[in-house]
Amino acid sequence: MSKGKLVVFSAPSGSGKTTIVRHLLKQEKLNLEFSISATSREKRGEEQEGVDYYYLSAKEFKNKIKADEFLEWEEVYRDNFYGTLKTEVERIWAKGKHVIFDIDVSGGLRIKRKFPEETLAIFVKPPSIDELKIRLKKRKTESDDKINMRVAKASAELATAPLFDKVILNENLEEALQEADTLVGDFVSDKKKEK
Ligand code: 5GP
Repeated sequence: MSKGKLVVFSAPSGSGKTTIVRHLLKQEKLNLEFSISATSREKRGEEQEGVDYYYLSAKEFKNKIKADEFLEWEEVYRDNFYGTLKTEVERIWAKGKHVIFDIDVSGGLRIKRKFPEETLAIFVKPPSIDELKIRLKKRKTESDDKINMRVAKASAELATAPLFDKVILNENLEEALQEADTLVGDFVSDKKKEK
């Protein structure tokens, strides 16, 4: 199977990385397809099975870990497992497309380590922790407890930004989208060699 490329977007929850990833997926010339992760967390809002995630029970998830079916996996929050199934990357590469990931910082760095040549790892940075909290509250999808948990994790995640190939500061969304377009466009067309 011929290998495509891997484009990883990682960031603290609420940084706007999902918005950026969705925007990139609409750009046909980039030839990207979204890597649908598996998770044991509950379905949220309008999310759909096989579109946003493959929803598994914690037990099913653990069985797949044992069977070595994951490229990477993480217990992102307690009892909430998230991971990339090996079959997912194979499925997308078999279509001749590049894979785009919206995953947490450790997962993103793990993919970069496994496929250093094929991967562009981008970190999306929120303007500040306070702004992040405001965005999460506006989203109204999580309880205060869960928001506090995500904010606490965000501080630790911000420290990992220098380990990524590129950092996009998401202060102004339009500018962040444009920067993402250019970075990913150059990478998939081999215009610039990433380190
Ligand atoms: P959410 O619950 O908001 O959908 O996602 C929570 C966190 O899990 C986010 O940071 C998201 O990027 C991350 N995540 C989603 N899929 C994966 C995955 O396959 N692997 C890892 N390591 N993290 C993931």
